Amino acid sequence: CGIVGVLGNHEAAPILVEALKRLEYRGYDSAGIATVNNGALRRRRAVGKLVNLSDLLVHEPLAGKSGIGHTRWATHGAPSVSNAHPHRAGAVAVVHNGIIENYKELRAELLNCGMEFRTETDTETVALMTERYLKEGLAPVDAAFRTLDQLEGAFALAFLFDGEEDLIVAARKGSPLAIGHGDGEMFVGSDAIALAPLTDRITYLEEGDRAVVTRAGAELRNARGELVNRETKTIQIDA
Ligand code: GLU
Repeated sequence: CGIVGVLGNHEAAPILVEALKRLEYRGYDSAGIATVNNGALRRRRAVGKLVNLSDLLVHEPLAGKSGIGHTRWATHGAPSVSNAHPHRAGAVAVVHNGIIENYKELRAELLNCGMEFRTETDTETVALMTERYLKEGLAPVDAAFRTLDQLEGAFALAFLFDGEEDLIVAARKGSPLAIGHGDGEMFVGSDAIALAPLTDRITYLEEGDRAVVTRAGAELRNARGELVNRETKTIQIDA
């Protein structure tokens, strides 16, 4: 239901949780974050209020200055820790708003290739498909893009990769997604409100857009894969 992402210069976990709090008004049943620290991708997830995730993070902290976070409103699979996002398969973690309409076909295909599913969500297909392409030798951005090529439905997605501390791949199709520009830091949010304390410089992705986000900025491509420029606006939201 809510997506946030940060490539920052400070510890990401508290920033992600704070940004997710600003999306609480949209409703959710569980929440989670993933970070990359010294190259290692890790995640923490909890059912119920964000305070449950914060409490978990007190006992099992997640270090790292790069990360993604999610508040989930379950559409496929019960609200449970294993169905909560981020979904991880091998070297990739994914957060997702919306619905992957063709997940059953994709799931059947992945099962055929011997991939194992651990959740009841439509989202896990995205993580597993990306992992499959990574294993085939594709670079992270290419693996994410090839996966995105096959997805039908309405979604916003953000991908984080093991070994990649300066990369988030984000995509929008039918579900809003914004890129926030900081000072040597970059942010992703399903809603500019989530990013308000972090930056007021926002680029809204347009329908079908994909973003390769690094601390240096965001490279945007449209649904046909062409490089595009989208206006960066300075917005006014009370932080
Ligand atoms: N369809 C996904 C799920 O059920 C994402 C739901 C959402 O937008 O939070 O896990």
